[in-house]
Amino acid sequence: MHTIAQRLEGVRERIRTAEQRHGRAAGSVALLAVSKTQPESAIREAAAAGQNAFGENYVQEGCAKFDALEGLGLQWHFIGPLQSNKTRAVAERFHCIHTIERLKIARRLSEQRPAELPPLECCIEVNIDAASNKSGVTPEHAAELAHAVAGLPRLRLRGLMAIPEPADGWDAQRRPFARLRTLFEDLRHQGLGLDMLSMGMSADLEAAVAEGATMVRVGTAIFGPRPY
Ligand SMILES: *Cc1c(COP(=O)(O)O)cnc(C)c1O
Repeated sequence: MHTIAQRLEGVRERIRTAEQRHGRAAGSVALLAVSKTQPESAIREAAAAGQNAFGENYVQEGCAKFDALEGLGLQWHFIGPLQSNKTRAVAERFHCIHTIERLKIARRLSEQRPAELPPLECCIEVNIDAASNKSGVTPEHAAELAHAVAGLPRLRLRGLMAIPEPADGWDAQRRPFARLRTLFEDLRHQGLGLDMLSMGMSADLEAAVAEGATMVRVGTAIFGPRPY
């Protein structure tokens, strides 16, 4: 499997197999192609092979690609850390942001979302390992932030996202995803209408699907190693 189209098909097959094996409905797990640091030509190739949703981590790079590829009708997801002085570019171009971890940033995005666009979809990023060096709100503070974000007029809170520490072995991979899923279900029981669990990457997407992921974010397995 060498071309992007072929690798993309390989990832789709992994998702289909995991859905089947873990009792998930066919087509219930969406694929976000993470194109950070990849050239526009790679995105065009994936788009030509039927991929519609792309994830970017850096504001400037993501906006440049958005502008260059505007005619293709792609859907852009922001999945990197966001500073408050760069919120406007995200509010104006992206369909969804997966990395809300502070109310201040969420408020700015809501204020800056252009009136002619639908509300900006978003997920709360949870530091599910509670690692001190990592982004995301702690599990203990997730509910408070989620309720506050759900009240913002120009955002639409869809769910939760996490990036667990890389782990070897099936059980070790599943554990943090199971914790995120439990938190997600708690919030749903509290009345938040959440329907998106953004978890799983190239190395652990099967474990994420087993634990209820509705969107996996896959870069390397589609595009190959990232050029830096
Ligand atoms: C880079 C990145 C990915 C993709 O990781 P791969 O291991 O290349 O699949 C997914 N999610 C986030 C937030 C990322 O930064």
